[in-house]
Amino acid sequence: MSKIDAQINKSGVIAIVGRPNVGKSTLMNRILGEKLSITSRKPQTTRHRLLGIKTVGGSQFTYVDTPGIHSNAETAMNRYLNRAAAGSMDNVDVVVFVVDGGKWSEEDDAVVELLKQQHCPLVAVVNKIDQIGDKEKLLPLIEQLSKKASFDAIVPLSALKGKGVDQLEDRLESLLPEGVHLYDEDQITDRSERFLVAERIREKLTRQLGQELPYALTVEIEQFKESGKLTDISAVIWVERSGQKGIVIGKKGARLRTVGKEAREELEELLGRKIFLQLWVKVRAGWSDDDRALHSLGYREDG
Ligand code: GDP
Ligand code: MG
Repeated sequence: MSKIDAQINKSGVIAIVGRPNVGKSTLMNRILGEKLSITSRKPQTTRHRLLGIKTVGGSQFTYVDTPGIHSNAETAMNRYLNRAAAGSMDNVDVVVFVVDGGKWSEEDDAVVELLKQQHCPLVAVVNKIDQIGDKEKLLPLIEQLSKKASFDAIVPLSALKGKGVDQLEDRLESLLPEGVHLYDEDQITDRSERFLVAERIREKLTRQLGQELPYALTVEIEQFKESGKLTDISAVIWVERSGQKGIVIGKKGARLRTVGKEAREELEELLGRKIFLQLWVKVRAGWSDDDRALHSLGYREDG
């Protein structure tokens, strides 16, 4: 038997779940060593399921970053996000439940209820420990958490600083089932460049705008074309009302220029080539509460 035949490979899907803002996307990016998933302090930053793939020797980890689970399901967008998050726990090998070490909330309890219906191994991550000065305070939290569901491990860490993340990956490897690798060793996501570009533009907008407006917008790539050494990208920022258009554009176009500049710089790094980026702002009334509009803007049941 050759050496390859004798090697036992491990492979599995790991869903990262939790309420909004606990650091799920930051954790996935940290594990991958690459910024794939967009992050911000505002809820609804992650709207799509996103795979992050990491292969280390014989082990292939397929992470699923999910939208936060929202307790308010009043709009079509929030219902879509909850379905995407709950659905992402179907047919996975491990669920990683992320909580903020500083703040337990009712929304965390809502996620625990979903976890109780799972049959696969569960790992709890107590994130943001860099914000906890007195580490003794972690012990009662870990104790409390251990009573909420039967976790195979509880790992305190800081996704932002990268502390404790290795220990998490070790625990996950021990829980990964044997199996064949589904992706090439150097593949890191299942998403297209087009998708990653639209998301990165939305991240810059989300961070630039106040609390309410990020919910009212989405980004659609109209053109993505290689022309010589440049990649020519044109994107539409859809808002719900004409008043919002002015806010996104800003005084004399200042805000839109900042968003365009920040997005272009990061995208050139992500794609490894020069980009010509054009942004347009257009109004489509009520798109986020209209199932058909959501569908046509890329919010599909499968992701
Ligand atoms: P998600 O909604 O669960 O995906 O959360 P994000 O990954 O978008 O993070 C939400 C916010 O928490 C962002 O501002 C992150 O920078 C911040 N954050 C994430 N992890 C940590 C951490 O370990 N420490 C600190 N201090 N902040 C973090
Ligand atoms: Mg996220």
